[in-house]
Amino acid sequence: MKDTEPDKQYSSHNALRQVKIEQKRWNMQGFSISGLTTYFQIPELDLCVDMGECPMSALSLNHVLLTHSHGDHSRCLMRHNSLRRMMQNPIQAVYYIPEPVYDLAVDLIKAETLFEGVSEERFDLPRLECVKASERFSLEYRKDLEVYPFNVKHSISSFGYTLFYKKKKLKKEYAECSREEIISMKKSGVEITDDVREPVVSFMGDCLGESLWEERHIWNSPAVVCECTFLDEDEFSMARKKGHTHINHLVQILKKIGSSMPCETIILTHFSMKYSKKHVFEAVSRAIPAEFREKIKIFL
Ligand SMILES: [Zn+2]
Ligand SMILES: [Zn+2]
Repeated sequence: MKDTEPDKQYSSHNALRQVKIEQKRWNMQGFSISGLTTYFQIPELDLCVDMGECPMSALSLNHVLLTHSHGDHSRCLMRHNSLRRMMQNPIQAVYYIPEPVYDLAVDLIKAETLFEGVSEERFDLPRLECVKASERFSLEYRKDLEVYPFNVKHSISSFGYTLFYKKKKLKKEYAECSREEIISMKKSGVEITDDVREPVVSFMGDCLGESLWEERHIWNSPAVVCECTFLDEDEFSMARKKGHTHINHLVQILKKIGSSMPCETIILTHFSMKYSKKHVFEAVSRAIPAEFREKIKIFL
């Protein structure tokens, strides 16, 4: 059932009206509707993911991960950079670009700048980092945060990202040692800790439902942000054709993984723009089995 009054139907479609989700250790705000725009900001991680729009609240964040080059996810990437310059932010933000579109991004950024009347001699490229699938990296200004990029299946090249806190943990063999012993070992240069990684959140970007199974390491993250573009029973083949996730496919995968998985929160994003908010809430609550309902948050 869809709302028929246009105002009511599109009340959730204002791309600058941000949605907020609160987690124990971080909060995420932003907006995501398929085809309109997608952008997320996590202030506690100094991070944006995608930049379909660039509201002022994104400007203080120093890292931007791009999942893929569709305009509704990427078109304000350089607006972020130019607004920061206008605000005289002394720090260069870092834009992480998937390798398959890196060269195209450089061409596009250059063309955009020249289009705005900046001469070729005055053009300088913002701080871009080329990201390769499966090659982990630390965020430039947050060395305690590591990113694992991975390929997902979409209509074009697309990446998902898992973020980890990097921590030092006392090696098991020293667990019984006293404080004094630990301090003296440290002083004499003994390596007493192991590096450990604790998952924080996984972002799937735009993808077919099968990526949720093929990349099932994501379910070890306490939170997974995943797209759920299609909800209606007759749209399963449409989802495949467009490279998006259908909620029934998500449900199949959740059942295979089981509700005792480490993931505590599944944030559903990127619903088709033809659905009203009411339709989304009703369709999601109908489709999600009871044992997973507590984990589900709708980003609308
Ligand atoms: Zn999209
Ligand atoms: Zn896309």
